[in-house]
Amino acid sequence: MKASDLIDLALETGFTFAGRVDPATLVPMNEVRDMCAVNKCKSYGKNWACPPACGTIEECAEKIHAFNCGVIVQTTAELEDELDFEGMGEAARKHGENYIKLLEAIRERTDEPLLALGAGGCKKCKSCTYPDAPCRFPDRLVHPMEGFGLMISEVCKKNGITYYYGRGTLTYVGCFLFNEDL
Ligand code: SF4
Repeated sequence: MKASDLIDLALETGFTFAGRVDPATLVPMNEVRDMCAVNKCKSYGKNWACPPACGTIEECAEKIHAFNCGVIVQTTAELEDELDFEGMGEAARKHGENYIKLLEAIRERTDEPLLALGAGGCKKCKSCTYPDAPCRFPDRLVHPMEGFGLMISEVCKKNGITYYYGRGTLTYVGCFLFNEDL
């Protein structure tokens, strides 16, 4: 797979931005993982995609750096004001749906190894098998970027990608890491 093909596919899917990232710039940090442990999303310790099941910070770094290429995808919403929770929810839903659509489109094209890093824990199954049985769909599993210790603003900054699009906007981010055909 070529990064340019994935970028085109992401834009066709409905993301507001898609751009290339270098996996070497993605540095998992314990501080981010610690915020994850506060468990606002209620997925910590309940899902194969989330900590602690997704591995130590060193193991996450190893998984990330096994790939030579990445593509970041963004959904930016324009909110009516900072209390526009409906707009925030709608953007989160759209981003999540498009992320899964794009993952399916990639899987139709290739079954090569891929690391899917999205927003929030894996929602593929109504109820995750963790910890009683292995993951049902390892090739469809989506890890949260924060669970991998990644500070999203830093990932964008290091790759020259805008994260803050101005007052009244909110941006959801995900990425895909893979080995690009050279
Ligand atoms: S694919 Fe299903 S079993 Fe696997 S991590 Fe996601 S929710 Fe859990």
